[in-house]
Amino acid sequence: MYDNNNIFAKIIRAEIPCKKVFEDDKCLFFYDINPVAKIHVLGIPKSSHVDFSDFVNNAEPSDVSGFFKKVSFVIEKLGIKNDGYRLVSNSGINGRQEVPHFHVHILGGESLASNL
Ligand code: 5GP
Repeated sequence: MYDNNNIFAKIIRAEIPCKKVFEDDKCLFFYDINPVAKIHVLGIPKSSHVDFSDFVNNAEPSDVSGFFKKVSFVIEKLGIKNDGYRLVSNSGINGRQEVPHFHVHILGGESLASNL
């Protein structure tokens, strides 16, 4: 069950500020408040989906492909495409997901630790 009061839902509604990288009517990309890499950006669709499986299985297919194309666009915008980056999406208890709104972490800007 999706919780409308999770932190990212509040960021989408502009009830909590964020440092935006890119936004359109369907998605939002913003800097993580507690970065674990030199560049650490979070990407979220604006639709109400709890995690990766919920988004991929239940969102419109065009919205799923559109979101991941925007992830690729933002990676280029951040200037980290050529040197490389890491995409992470935590899910559930074992994945240690903290915020129950589907999101991807875009990590880069430096050589990242080899542990996943
Ligand atoms: P998760 O563990 O759910 O994959 O990661 C959630 C991420 O959201 C964490 O990296 C955390 O630092 C970030 N985060 C939590 N609250 C806020 C917030 O209010 N603003 C921003 N920009 N990031 C947040």
